[in-house]
Amino acid sequence: MAVFNTLENVEDLYEIGEVLGSGHFAQVREVRERATGVLWAGKFLKIRKCASSRMGIERKSVEKEVEVLQSLQHTNIMALKDVFESRAEVVLVLELISGGELFDFIAEKENLTESEAIEFMKQILLGVGFMHGKQIGHFDLKPENIMLSDKNAPNPRIKIIDFGLAHRFQPGEEYKCMSGTPQYIPPEVINYEPLSTAVDMWSLGVITYILLSGTSPFQGCTDDETLSNIIALNYEFDDLHFSKTSSMAKDFIQKLFVKDVNERMTAEEGLFHPWIKPLTRKQVDNRNRASINMKNFKKFNAKRKWKMSYNMVWMCNRLRRLKVICKTSAPADEELRQCESDQEDNDIKPASLIRRRLSSSS
Ligand code: ATP
Repeated sequence: MAVFNTLENVEDLYEIGEVLGSGHFAQVREVRERATGVLWAGKFLKIRKCASSRMGIERKSVEKEVEVLQSLQHTNIMALKDVFESRAEVVLVLELISGGELFDFIAEKENLTESEAIEFMKQILLGVGFMHGKQIGHFDLKPENIMLSDKNAPNPRIKIIDFGLAHRFQPGEEYKCMSGTPQYIPPEVINYEPLSTAVDMWSLGVITYILLSGTSPFQGCTDDETLSNIIALNYEFDDLHFSKTSSMAKDFIQKLFVKDVNERMTAEEGLFHPWIKPLTRKQVDNRNRASINMKNFKKFNAKRKWKMSYNMVWMCNRLRRLKVICKTSAPADEELRQCESDQEDNDIKPASLIRRRLSSSS
């Protein structure tokens, strides 16, 4: 069992500031280190008090996230500085990532060439390749978890966040798990088959497809339709959305949307794919002429952000109802934290867990 810092109170060492973001299980706030004045991000996780409780997250899940982060020191991966624990809460002190989400940064631009998009893809591949080299799968790669350290820098740096679903593989281990966000998960997750780090590569294929076209490859009208489309590998590069896309970009995506996990491109191979690393003049020209479908991408991102806000309000309303039933009177701030952590159920079936995650971020 991991031992966190229980001797000191996080507030003795850090001044707690504004809310930066919230997820299912956590609220993230800016925190200022009192001794140095340096700003960090504090991820506040409510710990489930007993196994039967629906509130909060299991301590062992937090331990897993901490252990993963402790072994990942890479420029494209969010760093962990410290961990505090009180009776009801664990606080991760993390590198502050102030540039926002990559997709929001791109959506603000008038246009973007494929070459510019590739600079970001390269960094994502480097971060993902590093974790895969340590036998760690992220298992929740999606636009919300790809951020920028400083969007005003000439070459903004990618930072991969949220290792809440990450898993480190032991030699010979068979690991099955049915979590993730439907739009981004591969067939082996839906089929509850043994998983590997190749799961992340499929998700990267989905992210790349969206980035280039502003459409989601497998998205159906319902969750079930989305999952069926994934299983049937039902996607296409339609002319309407891919008219400005290079053939190499499509090839890159095709090599990621491969059902056989042993045949799916790895992060290391991806870094040497001609779309990322062109070898001939023709390949360079092919790439330079291509651009991303900005009009559609902006539409996709606006819809994505709207859905995220809608789901946050939905979660809070749900909590309020729960609070009324429980007749408790916790302060508003506390209420919000519980709202994000009251999303998982111990006895929940894998398929319903997928749906819950879909409802909040797809
Ligand atoms: P999920 O619901 O996806 O499982 P979670 O509860 O594990 O999420 P995170 O995704 O880690 O929480 O964080 C929630 C939000 O807080 C993020 O989407 C992001 O906006 C913000 N955030 C997380 N980490 C940082 C950081 N280090 N710096 C700045 N903002 C952050």
